[in-house]
Amino acid sequence: MLPLRKGKSEKMKRILIAVMAVVMCAFSAFQAAAETVEQFEESGAQTKENQDIPPKPPKRTPPPWELTISEADSAIVVSWSGIRQADSYYIYRAETANDSLKLIGKTQARRFVDSDIRANRLYQYAVSAIADDGDETTVLRRSEKKFGALNALETPVLSAVAPSPGGNVIEWQSVNAAYDYSVHKSTHSDGGFKPIGTTRELSFTDNTVENGEIVYYAVRARLFAPEYMSRGSNVMSVRSHRADNQWAYLLISKAQPLPENYLKGIKFEPVRDDFRMDSRCAEYARQMLAAGTSAGGRFSVLSAYRSPEQQQRAIDNQFRFLRGKGHSHEDALALTLSEILPPGASEHNAGLAIDITTTNWYDYNDDITPAFANTWEAQWLAANAHRFGFILRYPDGKEDITGITFEPWHFRFVGLYTAKQIKNSGLTLEEFMADN
Ligand SMILES: [Zn+2]
Repeated sequence: MLPLRKGKSEKMKRILIAVMAVVMCAFSAFQAAAETVEQFEESGAQTKENQDIPPKPPKRTPPPWELTISEADSAIVVSWSGIRQADSYYIYRAETANDSLKLIGKTQARRFVDSDIRANRLYQYAVSAIADDGDETTVLRRSEKKFGALNALETPVLSAVAPSPGGNVIEWQSVNAAYDYSVHKSTHSDGGFKPIGTTRELSFTDNTVENGEIVYYAVRARLFAPEYMSRGSNVMSVRSHRADNQWAYLLISKAQPLPENYLKGIKFEPVRDDFRMDSRCAEYARQMLAAGTSAGGRFSVLSAYRSPEQQQRAIDNQFRFLRGKGHSHEDALALTLSEILPPGASEHNAGLAIDITTTNWYDYNDDITPAFANTWEAQWLAANAHRFGFILRYPDGKEDITGITFEPWHFRFVGLYTAKQIKNSGLTLEEFMADN
């Protein structure tokens, strides 16, 4: 039995050696394979041969990188230091500290401009790097600071709303950083405003109105993103006049007084306080005073419609005033008639003229004089009256044509079209009518 056992033992020993050799061989092979894996990982390459090898966690731990978030004109600028080997970046945003991050863009730059923002919101940003092999690294950096409390866009201010033959013309003052403006319209003053158009200009013509229709307008300024708007402007209303006011195109003078029955059937309505005008132009006068007031002026109405009887009383009063100042009877009468037209010869008797002064003129003067032309209000009226259908009827240096001395306070309604034509021509009404 022993030799057999010895022989067996010898055989076992040989097998054991062989096994050990195989094991050692396999071990060195495994070592070689492991080195290959590390080499691939270091170079970032990946081949089909080693796909079976379980991947190690990525070694690309990026260095600390900074997000900078700043506010620019109507946008938030996100920039970052970037990392090596990153091909592009994903930008995420949360609208408040608690909101989840949403993907808002992808860029190869290290900067992203987010203009899709609204004022007075808090935004947080995170940026994620994408490697050139397409893998997105799970590196997110939230900004520590909260931004987005951008100043709201200024609220625009309507400066004028006026009817014209082509429609109602709405004008406003420009607003900083506004991209464009949205015009809104309603049939009543306290709501129901609907957008009717947008423009990058500072005026808009609403040609959808009917003659005589009263409409209300407001304007909002808009940022790049259409949903981001300023608050609505002040509201201004207007009675639409699609056709120009040809009825107002008539000469009234000492040589051409009002026709006998002119005042029959004409209605008057208040412009301010007890001062009335022909109801067809009273709204234009109100708009003119409102626009001048919102531009900073302080206006007072001195006179508007005067019946022929009131005209006579004005003559009597002025005569007494001049007598009181020491003029002789003849001088006072001559002076009065040079200043005030006889009944029926004055545009005031038709309800088409308005005398406007400053609220404090009579604190310093006892009569209206051409010196009124030096006031801001007179200059605003001279420059803007045509926008409301009025002309400076008795200009300086045209006395021999109009027969009336310079009256920087007297404005006459002639209709929008005619007023603009006359303003542009520099002519008096007499000259303009002779030419047209
Ligand atoms: Zn007058």
